[in-house]
Amino acid sequence: MLRNDDQLDQWDRDNFFHPSTHLAEFARGNLPQRVVTGGSGCHIEDRDGNRLLDAFAGLYCVNVGYGRSEIAEAIADQARELAYYHSYVGHGTEASITLAKMVLDRAPNHMSKVYFGLSGSDANETNIKLVWYYNNILGRPEKKKIISRWRGYHGSGLMTGSLTGLGLFHNKFDLPLSQVFHTEAPYYFRRENPAQSEAEFTAHCVAALEELIAREGADTIAAFIGEPVLGTGGIVPPPEGYWPAIQAVLDKHDILLIADEVVTGFGRLGTMYGSDHYGMRPDLITIAKGLTSAYAPLSGSIVSDKMWAVLEQGTDENGPIGHGWTYSAHPIGAAAGVANLKLIDTLDLVTKAGDIGAYLNKAMSDALSDHAHVGEVRGAGMLCAVEFVKDRETRQFFDPADKIGPQVAAALLDADKVIARAMPQGDILGFAPPFCLTRDEADSVVAATLRAVRKVLG
Ligand code: PLP
Repeated sequence: MLRNDDQLDQWDRDNFFHPSTHLAEFARGNLPQRVVTGGSGCHIEDRDGNRLLDAFAGLYCVNVGYGRSEIAEAIADQARELAYYHSYVGHGTEASITLAKMVLDRAPNHMSKVYFGLSGSDANETNIKLVWYYNNILGRPEKKKIISRWRGYHGSGLMTGSLTGLGLFHNKFDLPLSQVFHTEAPYYFRRENPAQSEAEFTAHCVAALEELIAREGADTIAAFIGEPVLGTGGIVPPPEGYWPAIQAVLDKHDILLIADEVVTGFGRLGTMYGSDHYGMRPDLITIAKGLTSAYAPLSGSIVSDKMWAVLEQGTDENGPIGHGWTYSAHPIGAAAGVANLKLIDTLDLVTKAGDIGAYLNKAMSDALSDHAHVGEVRGAGMLCAVEFVKDRETRQFFDPADKIGPQVAAALLDADKVIARAMPQGDILGFAPPFCLTRDEADSVVAATLRAVRKVLG
């Protein structure tokens, strides 16, 4: 199909504004241009004939793997039958109504309804608007501030970029917005006091949250947002007892909890949701990636019974809720979601993700934990990370300018055609493969990673 590769490369440089990219280097031709042409199972193919093992499932989203004809056919059928109709003022399609039922059937019992959007970012924008609306209806307009964690990732919009606790997403964008406050990241490996146990570190995170609430005033704080396992901030499972302890503080101060399950929703931790896994009781759950396994863009905000009652009251008092996207519950996305969730059930992929994820994490830890420059191998379910350090004893980190994480990722790709992700902050190599990864594929990812680490770090 692509006859003139040079021309395509030129068009790419001349016309395409790529996200999260060094724009000037790209324009100068100093970044690789990979044109991806196909995919099957855990592999993608590119224009140059390379077959790459995608150990990050795109952006941890192609959970059921590439090339699933069941989902492709559901999308094609829906497009032929009805490509689009909106879902305003009570309209729907069989696909969107069925998907809403399937999502609620899988959600914790106290959840009531799902609002569909297009991306994790817009779903979190929706969540914050719902939180503000809720407190206005309850007659407490001053209760609006949102607490998020350093190293959290919640999207790239104005509010969601603010909630994100990574400098790259704030710098030069005039973010964060003034309503957002960041608290301690639950990042045990990077604790300041090496003598602290996990439980002591949890107590330290809880105390930091309590301090922030006391300083700002609980009557000004509306919600706390967090990923069950920090994702883009470094793939960091929470320390022992973290979520129940945080939940207790939030309950005490009547602060809502938003569980951002964009990465963890629909099986990545070996359970349907991370909230189940860690004992969170969210008022809102954000879903996206795994909802359709990225076969079509679709996200959702799942709303609890408690919030739903207030939203209904609000419309009785004020008329229809003034929040809608043209593409909310887009039929093609919804058809992809229905087919995807069916496939996850049929193939028992949530259980498989738990099993193969445990295998991958153990194999990675066995192979790499003793390396002189590996500070930690950590993970949960089908999430795994290797963090590099200059000195294991002192946990001294490399100079970011050395770009150790990106160097290892590049070596892994060059030598063994395995895609891992150099996480944006810190020298951390992330793995989040599709759930169909086999043990042989997991073994080859681990062996290739060890070779890449030895090549870069000796
Ligand atoms: N929330 C989390 C936890 C994410 O990891 C992401 C994306 O990676 C988002 C929200 C934003 O989703 P999107 O990129 O679809 O806007």
